[in-house]
Amino acid sequence: MNGYILVITGGMFSGKSEQLIDRCKKFEAYGKKKVKVYKPSGDKRFSEDEVVSRMGCHFPATNIPEKITDKVMNQILSETKDVDVVGFDESQFYSKNIMPLVSELAYNGKYVIVAGLNMDYRGKEFGYIGGILAMADKIIRLHSFCAICGSEKGTHTQRLVNGKPAKKGEPIVLIGDTESYEPRCRKCFVPPDRS
Ligand code: ZN
Repeated sequence: MNGYILVITGGMFSGKSEQLIDRCKKFEAYGKKKVKVYKPSGDKRFSEDEVVSRMGCHFPATNIPEKITDKVMNQILSETKDVDVVGFDESQFYSKNIMPLVSELAYNGKYVIVAGLNMDYRGKEFGYIGGILAMADKIIRLHSFCAICGSEKGTHTQRLVNGKPAKKGEPIVLIGDTESYEPRCRKCFVPPDRS
């Protein structure tokens, strides 16, 4: 196969994992391709050995450390030798080596699917997703519905502490506090460092 980099990005609740799983399933079932998906070992929200979407779709996944050392990189490059499609979920959490890794996999002829948040709760670039977006052959930019006005242009992820937009310098959640996130459009989003 010709190497290719597809990035699936957007805010929380926009269906990134859903898209990743759907594409991997189709590559396997209809494209007769060998598919391998990785996820950060810290992500145990739904399952240890699967990528699971909020809508309940799932696909087997291998846990790898968020810090991609040269050793981890070589391990992935060697175990994907006869794999056609390589997927990464929650890619915003990986260390800098995710960029050369994705690039190398694509040069090795892999179809690489990278799913991840583009912005954090401050509305700032998240991890190294920007560098991967720069290398992408195709970008799928997903939106959610804004939790405030209902517009379909939910681009941002609002962090709420006790139901109110988190302020700057309020990253720590104290005992008894509730922390949650919701999708918002740019108009309804309250940037922590501007509030
Ligand atoms: Zn809105």
